[in-house]
Amino acid sequence: MPQESLDRSDLFQRCRRLVIKVGSAVLTGPRGLNRVMIHRLSDQIAELREREKDLKIVIVSSGAVASGVRKIGLGEKPRTIPQKQAAAAVGQGVLMEAWEEAFDKYGILVAQVLLTGEDLAQRHRYLNARNTLETLLDWGILPIINENDTVVVEEIKFGDNDQLSAMIAGLIGADLVVNLTDTEGLYDCDPRTDPAARLIPLVRRVDARVLGCATPLAGSVGTGGMLSKVSAARKCLASGVAMIIGPGRERDVLLRLFQGEPLGTLFMSQRRQYHGMKLWLANLPKPAGDLELDDGAVAALRRRGKSLLPIGVRKVVGTFGVGAAVRCLDEKGDTVGVGLTNYKSSEIELIRGHRSEEIESIIGYKHSDEVIHRNNFVLMGEIPEISEGEMHA
Ligand code: GLU
Repeated sequence: MPQESLDRSDLFQRCRRLVIKVGSAVLTGPRGLNRVMIHRLSDQIAELREREKDLKIVIVSSGAVASGVRKIGLGEKPRTIPQKQAAAAVGQGVLMEAWEEAFDKYGILVAQVLLTGEDLAQRHRYLNARNTLETLLDWGILPIINENDTVVVEEIKFGDNDQLSAMIAGLIGADLVVNLTDTEGLYDCDPRTDPAARLIPLVRRVDARVLGCATPLAGSVGTGGMLSKVSAARKCLASGVAMIIGPGRERDVLLRLFQGEPLGTLFMSQRRQYHGMKLWLANLPKPAGDLELDDGAVAALRRRGKSLLPIGVRKVVGTFGVGAAVRCLDEKGDTVGVGLTNYKSSEIELIRGHRSEEIESIIGYKHSDEVIHRNNFVLMGEIPEISEGEMHA
């Protein structure tokens, strides 16, 4: 079997967390929201969930502006920002109602999650969004994410859902992003203007040559264009997440991809895959403080893959807020790892040495049992360092 097919089947077999991004051009047509398409996709997603019991799926759905435009009867894509935002306010409801109805027949609950760039740029909000998504996934609910178009201002915009889906992949530790669009994938030149254009099946590295293949021009309904998808793929690769740009309107595209059919363009580095959050932590320039742990907590983190509970914390060094990245030290002062705290330093000072059941009676509320959840923690040496340039590619 050629290497590429091996990579594909391996990727899908290993995939435990999947982000499916669906573009406006796939979800909407001349008469507004394309409900047939939404049903087709939800049928496939329901089947995947049924088949792969431990596969967690998150959808990033565009289409709010485009369906709002049709619903209001505006005729064409609005030009001004307030018009786009007003159209999104109408369309987002239509969009969610359609997804909800489509998944309802499978008894799958969906949840609307609207985010702005600021939500993911600040650590405590990032962590909060992450905890919410984790809870939804734990409950078997399917999150359907979009940018909060109605309120977002230019400075805090993701720009488009291609970028948003790359960030979500990091946020939930996805293995793969499937970006469904209205073309087959990435071509060596723009197929809309050059009929000799050829599809590129596999990209290992997003360099200038690959970027040069992608047009920045979006279609008449979408926002991103191919360049934005390729730049999102680059971000994914930098955090070890694979991405496929694939034909969203192709029948059974998701099922066929999971069967290993070589549809679309696969972006995949040969490096081992790491959790985006863990990469971020492993490369933090400066932690906000230290937690000194007892031997039991060190063993739980180092050898048993457990979270850090308040009972194992001996000393808190530094002043920091919720979501701060802190170093965990063993009794000799050696670094065990780095993690994001669920409590601020003054609270940890009060709950350290206590059992998790006592948290609420000590500080008046309980965010969670753990001071640091394992998903937000990286052990020393777990991830080889990557260069600054790669992190921010
Ligand atoms: N958030 C926009 C919408 O739902 C789409 C952005 C994009 O197409 O990338 O209409």
